[in-house]
Amino acid sequence: MSDHLYKKSAAELSNLLDKGEVSSLEITQSVIDRTHEVDDRVNAFLQTNEEEALESAKAADDRRAKKGRLSPIDGIPVSLKDIIAVEGSSLTCGSKMLEHFISPYDATCTKSLKEAGAVLWGRLNMDEFAMGSSTENSAFKTTSNPWNLDHVPGGSSGGSAACVAAGETILSLGSDTGGSVRQPASFCGVVGINPTYGSISRYGLVAFASSLDQIGPMGKTVEDVAHLLQCLVKHDPLDSTSVKTEPQDFVNSLKADDKKWKIGLPKEYFGEGLSEEVKTSAEKAVKFYESKGCEIIDVSLPHTEYAVPAYYIIATAEASSNLSRYDGIRYTHRSPNAKNAVDIYFKSRGEGFGDEVKRRILLGSYVLSSGYYDAYYLKAQKIRSLIRQDFTNALEKVDAVITPTSPTPAFKKGEKSKDLMSMYLSDIYTISLNLTGLPGISVPSGHTNNNLPLGIQLIGKPYQEGELLQIANLFDKEHLYGKLIPEIK
Ligand code: GLN
Repeated sequence: MSDHLYKKSAAELSNLLDKGEVSSLEITQSVIDRTHEVDDRVNAFLQTNEEEALESAKAADDRRAKKGRLSPIDGIPVSLKDIIAVEGSSLTCGSKMLEHFISPYDATCTKSLKEAGAVLWGRLNMDEFAMGSSTENSAFKTTSNPWNLDHVPGGSSGGSAACVAAGETILSLGSDTGGSVRQPASFCGVVGINPTYGSISRYGLVAFASSLDQIGPMGKTVEDVAHLLQCLVKHDPLDSTSVKTEPQDFVNSLKADDKKWKIGLPKEYFGEGLSEEVKTSAEKAVKFYESKGCEIIDVSLPHTEYAVPAYYIIATAEASSNLSRYDGIRYTHRSPNAKNAVDIYFKSRGEGFGDEVKRRILLGSYVLSSGYYDAYYLKAQKIRSLIRQDFTNALEKVDAVITPTSPTPAFKKGEKSKDLMSMYLSDIYTISLNLTGLPGISVPSGHTNNNLPLGIQLIGKPYQEGELLQIANLFDKEHLYGKLIPEIK
């Protein structure tokens, strides 16, 4: 029975655990073995601690034997992006700046996972401080797409998506500031959700752009993601943007009868720059919904073309402020070549940050500076309001909006790293959501002729993740592309 447990979904494993047919120890051993088998090529993990994971699995088994299960993810391995604090563990954020930093506390979501009995397994690679779309900006290693090792896994949560796709873990968490959960999920063929801003506490998530950052769960299926989300959505007084909402039962909402949803189709997301294969796959998904009796309604999101420039002003402005704490004095890399206090700041930051992070700090400081604030930052905030209004108007008419997640399938390593504009444009369909705070989910929708995964994005109403998951599941449960595990060559 313990053979290839890593191929199963969290829901299947949870069921087997309930029936006493497998143990958490066997499941955890299975993902550890799989990691040994493939991670020298996938490079999803920055660090692993087998002993700790196995101990926690054993504890889950003992506890279950005595008291029954704690939650649907009790005993299930969950891996975290190395930007989410776990007490006593690394928290590098993919940066040399924090290479030797050990977190003194747990993020609220880490605490929730521990309380739910999850087995924490490893720390995952990412673009430095979550800035990037390919995981090539990690200071430590480049993660590969498990479906084709010459291609990127997407980013910035490339490690989180790749390890689920490769079977090196069962569930994972990433963070999404402009698409960093949904885009890698679509590139690697797994499900990734970015819930409404304020739903999952950001306490213990290292800040990139605080008004846009959200933690997002990933898994092989929509059902798995619902299980994980269920444990994480709650009010947290430690995060002032955490929202008090009525508790929702995401898992049970999936059992409700399928409704005939109204689904919006925005023409702005099907135009220039969209690859033929992505377009065809998204159109097929739209037809599928139609065949299920859903009504497809044309909607317009006219300010879409301004989303990328507005995002790169707001995100960099916030980053320039958030990253000022890495000063070489406290908890970070300190230059051995510094001769005085000013030197410590300059040299430590010069040596500790990579090029993309430096570029963003410069840009962010510039758009906030006196004389340019109105021309750039203020204008970007006005665009943000217009984009939010576009979505409010659209979602008055429909239950969800459907789009491709990314304009292209996973690109080749190195293909866009010299062409920043095309790298930035790869987030064109995901960024608007962070500017509005709305929830969105990427669901695998098939493969290209070259066997690279494709994904569709569904965007829902604020705090209606239950409904969004139901709409996503209508498609996912009849396709289950995320359960296909690639042969890693
Ligand atoms: N790719 C986008 C960026 O580089 C989004 C990153 C993210 O969501 N963390 O800013």
